[in-house]
Order: sequence, then structure tokens, then C-alpha cells
Amino acid sequence: ETIGADLENTVARFGDRTALVDVPSGRRWTYTEFGADVNRLAKGLLAVGLEKGDRMGIWSPNYPEWTLLQYATAKVGVVLVNVNPAYRTHEFDYVVEQSGMRMIAAAVEYKSSKYRQMVEQTLAKRPSLERAFYIGDASWDELLAGGESISDEQLHERSDSLDPHDPINIQYTSGTTGFPKGATLSHRNILNNGFFVGEGLTYTEKDIVCIPMPFYHCFGMVMGNLACTSHGACMVIPGPTFDPVAALTAVEQEHCTSLYGVPTMFIAELGLPNFADFDLSSLRTGIMSGSPCPVEAMKKVIDRMGMAEVVICYGMTETSPVSTITRADDDMRRRTETVGRAMPHVEIQILDPVTGERVPRGTTGEFCTRGYSVMKGYWNAPERTAEAIDADGWMHTGDLAVMDEDGYCAIVGRMKDMVIRGGENIYPREIEEFLYTHPAIADVSVVGVPDEKYGEELMAWIITVPGHEALTAEDLDEFSAGRLAHYKVPRYVHCVDSFPMTVTGKIRKVDMRDEAVRLLG
Ligand code: ATP
Ligand code: MG
Repeated sequence: ETIGADLENTVARFGDRTALVDVPSGRRWTYTEFGADVNRLAKGLLAVGLEKGDRMGIWSPNYPEWTLLQYATAKVGVVLVNVNPAYRTHEFDYVVEQSGMRMIAAAVEYKSSKYRQMVEQTLAKRPSLERAFYIGDASWDELLAGGESISDEQLHERSDSLDPHDPINIQYTSGTTGFPKGATLSHRNILNNGFFVGEGLTYTEKDIVCIPMPFYHCFGMVMGNLACTSHGACMVIPGPTFDPVAALTAVEQEHCTSLYGVPTMFIAELGLPNFADFDLSSLRTGIMSGSPCPVEAMKKVIDRMGMAEVVICYGMTETSPVSTITRADDDMRRRTETVGRAMPHVEIQILDPVTGERVPRGTTGEFCTRGYSVMKGYWNAPERTAEAIDADGWMHTGDLAVMDEDGYCAIVGRMKDMVIRGGENIYPREIEEFLYTHPAIADVSVVGVPDEKYGEELMAWIITVPGHEALTAEDLDEFSAGRLAHYKVPRYVHCVDSFPMTVTGKIRKVDMRDEAVRLLG
């Protein structure tokens, strides 16, 4: 099935139910209204001459137009290119060039991001980019008005010509470990993944889902939007970008049953001084995902936010994205310490990164996955695709994991983040988990820094709980004495107010390592 056909199905079944709510503007759509607005926009795209397979970019924080365009492009077979809202002209030019983008939809501006100005610069120097449309601007109305000349038959003709295996989306990875790569995804890839995520959270048309994740990332547009539309659930946009107060306000106002976030977002929400003032009693479930989920944070989400059925998902952009998911009826240890088991129709194996052999259960190796969810490839980069997907179709994730006898997987860390100190392999994740139990530590991230004697040493970046003094390496020594092997206790401590982050809320350890080298230099 295609994304457009799936949406039509939902509109037919749940037309009267609310599809989308934009909290800041108060705008709301029922599924009937949403389907109609998607069609108007889809006709606009036909009228400006976009052909099947053409690339159209979207460069904007979370506005409802983002969501409408996601479905409108899918309906007419135009490949949506998600551009990171934090990009500037240098990166935008790269994406325009790399994806062969013909047209772009963008916000006019948001805070320090002057999207229109940046788009106009690129338009002037790159003729391959033909036209731009700006959200909330006359050019958007023109796009819609143009579509009035297109008949329903013309739209159907295009929709009927689409194949679920067609590419429909290029998503660039978060850029946590380096320059982002464009994953080419089909209807089949992301629609199925969104549907199965919704199944995992037992979504029905009664669910109301708060999505503070950027839509440009699969966590927002697939695990959020597609999971909702494939089950008739309601998508709630708390704001253009993440803000902990806005997220909890949206949950309270709209009686959300589900809330999403990467760990740092939940930690920020739980840490609000007025956290107790929010009525979160409507929350039933949600997803924590995107980076290692601290056990302490999961427990607080269950106990203090009342998200009794919250799950953890693990995955990556290249796999549409989710590969494993926990279940609400798993035991508490597995719900907090593992990322669950394989999603339906997804195969997993854990391979020795050196020999390529399958490792025994309980042994660390590289997480590899195969199935409908594996991307078609990196856009226009066959050599990089060949490095990531082997001849038998297995996607090599670059993540280290352990699988137990029952198929539950625990993520040990990224291969790139592993620290080797004096010949000992150290996984920063283990030390971070331990330090989270320190009463003065609100958030912590551990990286390796070069060392003449040991090859590498550890540096802990720490955000202290408000009111606590900065911690020192001696404090950590004292806290760890008798509880953590000496070689795992960070030699250096760096107290900060925030970590360098990607727009998806992931900690950029690459930047931290560079900064650490500078600090120690
Ligand atoms: P880039 O590939 O550009 O460096 P990225 O890998 O962060 O960036 P994404 O595709 O957004 O880009 O993220 C996928 C990665 O996020 C996974 O490979 C994994 O390292 C991490 N991840 C996702 N979910 C989890 C989880 N539940 N636990 C631990 N790590 C996770
Ligand atoms: Mg990656």
C-alpha cells in the first residue's frame, strides 16, 4: 500500500475524529479536513509540474504545513527531502545539490534562522532549484490556488500510478558521528514501520499523541505522524521546536495519551521546577528512543509521569527507523535495561565486528538487521550503501549490542564511542548509567580523550542538579570507590550548563571530544 492510499483509508474510517492539532496557533483538523487539505496541496504540486520521483525539500521547524506536505508529496509520488532546520546555507547547498532538489518549501524564519533569506541566496546561484514556497506567505496561497485547475481524476491518475516500492523520502541521519548521510526510503519502508510502531503502542482512533520531536527526523514523521495516521490517532504539535513547558502544557490541554522524547527531553521535563503543577493523568504510553535510555529516567517516566505503558524503541534512520521495541507487559528490568525484541517482520543478528561471525547469545557484537525496513540505500552514494548493507541484505548499524536467550537486546554503545584505555574496552554508557545514580548529577555524558600513557582516558561532562556545586574528579573517585572498577572512573570532569546537541536532541560526542582535546591541550 502507498502512504496516500493508507491515509484515504483512515479518512474513510475515522473522518470525524481529530487528525491534527497545532497547539500554538490553535488550528485543528478532523481527518476529513486533513484529507481534503492534503489533496488541495497535492493538486498544487501537480500544477507546478512536479513529476513522479522529483525531489522537493522541506526546511522548517514543526508547523502543520510540514505534516500536510509530507502526505501531499507521498500522494503524488514526489520524494520529500527532509532538511535539518538547524542547517545554514553551506549545508543547505550541499543537500540541494546532493539530492537534486527541484523545489523547496520552507518556513519564512524562526528565531535566528532566516530560511527565506538563505533559500533566496541558493535559488540565485543554483538554477537546478527552480522554485520556493514559504509557509504562511503569499507563495503558499499561490501554490494552493494553482491546484484548483487540477481535477480529482488527474490526482487519482497520479496516485494510482505509484508503487509502494518507489522512493518517497530522503532523510538525512542526525549527524551525531559526522556528516549526515541521506537515506532513501520507500512508502513500504516507512508506512509499515509507522504502522507497526502504532501496533506496539496499541494505538486506536482514541489516542492523542504529543510529538515534540522534529518532523524532519524519522522519530517525528514516522514513529509520530505515520503511526498516528495509520491508526486514526491524533497528532499534537506542542510547538515549532522542543520546549519542556510547551510539551507538558500540550499534554495537559489536549489530554494526550502518549508522549514522545529522546532521553534528554524527558529529563528536561522531569526537571522543571513546576513539574508537579502539570496534570499529566491522561498519559498512558509513549516512546523514549534515539539514544541510550538511562534506567533512572525510564523509571521516573513510568512513576512520576504516569506513563505506565511507555516503551523504548531502538533503530536508525536507515532502517525506517525502528528495529526493536519493548512491550508494556515485559518485566520491569527488561523494560528499562533493554531495547526489547525485534519488530514484526524484522530479522536481527549480532555479529563479531572483526570476523563477521554470529556471536553467541550474551556476547557483545554489532547489531545487524534485515527485512522490509532496510532503506533502499544512501541517495546517490552506492559505495557508502555497499559499506552499510552487505551482499545478503544485512544493514550493519555500527551499534554494539548483546542479545539474550529470549531475543531481548541491550545496546552497549556505538562502535565509534567505545574507549580503549590501557587495552581495556570501556563502554561510556555503563559509566553514565552508574553516574546517573549520583544525587548531584542531573545529566552526564562520558567521552574518551587521547592520553600518552593509556592511549585514552575518560572525561565526564556533567550537568549538576540546580543548587549543587560543580563536581570534581575527586568527588567521582569518592563516589565510585568500591563500586566501580578503578579504570572506569573518569580521570577528568567538566561541568557545563548544557551539552553540544543535534537538533534531534542527541549529544554530539564528536564535538565534546574536540572540546576536551582543546581544554586539556
Ligand atoms: P549519524 O549516523 O549521522 O552519525 P545518528 O546515527 O545519530 O547520526 P540517527 O539515524 O538519527 O542518526 O540515529 C540512529 C542511532 O541512534 C543508532 O545507530 C543508535 O546509535 C542510536 N539509538 C537510537 N535508539 C537508541 C536506543 N534506544 N538506545 C541506544 N541508542 C539508540
Ligand atoms: Mg547513524
